[in-house]
Amino acid sequence: MERTLSIIKPDGVSRGLIGEVIRRFEANKIKIVAMKMIYMTKAQAQGFYAVHKERPFFGSVTDFMSSGPSVVMVLEGENVIAKNRELMGATDFRKAAEGTIRRDFATDIEKNVVHGSDAPETAAFEISYFFNRLEITG
Ligand code: ATP
Ligand code: MG
Repeated sequence: MERTLSIIKPDGVSRGLIGEVIRRFEANKIKIVAMKMIYMTKAQAQGFYAVHKERPFFGSVTDFMSSGPSVVMVLEGENVIAKNRELMGATDFRKAAEGTIRRDFATDIEKNVVHGSDAPETAAFEISYFFNRLEITG
């Protein structure tokens, strides 16, 4: 059994896509074991995306992630890290497969609606960044 962190990013929340993203998780038998709405500060976004601090888009993506509320969730299931990444689609929505969340809804390489952890180690860090044990059910 694996866990992963999912975020419905500020563009997804402001465009009314919370229900649609959650519907896709549930339709694909992905179990949600924790969920809340947060409004990240710039510093919190910088901490979350610290692995990207040397990248040219770091300033911009942390501005974006602190520009409005997000929904953060912990997903649980067999192979859920890869399964969630598959449902999300490629970072650049123009390269994302048909029927993926980013292909269907992203508007920009940065404003790409959802985040998903990319490996067990990043999932563990990202889940503990937003949730304590008492907030995770199941
Ligand atoms: P995420 O980590 O958000 O799930 P990802 O793993 O598909 O996305 P990363 O390479 O980790 O992609 O990049 C993190 C985020 O930074 C992207 O989702 C996107 O919002 C932004 N980003 C990535 N590459 C670029 C880029 N070339 N220009 C602008 N923003 C970018
Ligand atoms: Mg990533």
